[in-house]
Amino acid sequence: MENRNTVSIMDIPIDNLTMQEAIDRLRLFLRGSRVHTVYTPNAEILMAALRNSKLKSILCEADMLVADGAGVVLASKILGAPVKEKVSGIDLVRNSMSASSWGRTRYYLLGGKPGVAEAAAEKILKAYVNVEIAGCRNGYFKDSDEPGIIEDINSSDADILLVALGAPKQEEWIYRNRSRLKVKVAIGVGGTLDVLAGKVRLAPEFMRKAGLEWLYRLYKEPWRYKRMLELPRFVLLVLKMRFFRKNNK
Ligand code: UDP
Repeated sequence: MENRNTVSIMDIPIDNLTMQEAIDRLRLFLRGSRVHTVYTPNAEILMAALRNSKLKSILCEADMLVADGAGVVLASKILGAPVKEKVSGIDLVRNSMSASSWGRTRYYLLGGKPGVAEAAAEKILKAYVNVEIAGCRNGYFKDSDEPGIIEDINSSDADILLVALGAPKQEEWIYRNRSRLKVKVAIGVGGTLDVLAGKVRLAPEFMRKAGLEWLYRLYKEPWRYKRMLELPRFVLLVLKMRFFRKNNK
């Protein structure tokens, strides 16, 4: 289980997996006896980890890091160690829910604005026959609510906890509480519950396939442009690293 095939991007070990391999790994985690942490870093998160050493060490200690987004896939190619495939958080969650060989699996949905997790749960139950929803909780709570939330998750008998608090809040939350959680897998999933609830639409399939989901997001949420500038900055930085390495060989 610990034999990971990873690609180091900015000193962070991104797992080199196809979607199917990532799903198989989740299945192994489900059979284990401890909580496994999974994050879905995109270019923005990797850039944040460059400035935030706590986030970086959280990512480095994860059990699985999937390459979420065209930027991370491109970076792996530039660095000469291409990952097999893009494995975005939303696709990982959807594929795990439809994994026919898994049997019934219980998910707890934590995060999003009030009502979002419940709306996502309703849609999930209609779409995925093998999924049970163990519980829902919105992502706007005080620190003092945390013990109660953990208790609710643990008594729900959930197998997989989806934590959608945005980055780096969700990564920090999972890290801080990992030893208290009884689930087998905790995944930081960003805006996935909004998508599953039908509140946010994903880019059309042809754009996602072409690695242009960022362009769609820029069009839909132009106010995010400042954060999205991290993507070209990330690519430039990776190019610089590659160039530097080449000239030092
Ligand atoms: N969110 C939350 N609690 C918070 C902050 C954010 O539950 O304190 C949720 C927010 O409602 C959204 C999700 O986290 O559903 C992801 O937020 P955003 O798109 O801003 O973050 P990203 O994943 O793009 O960094």
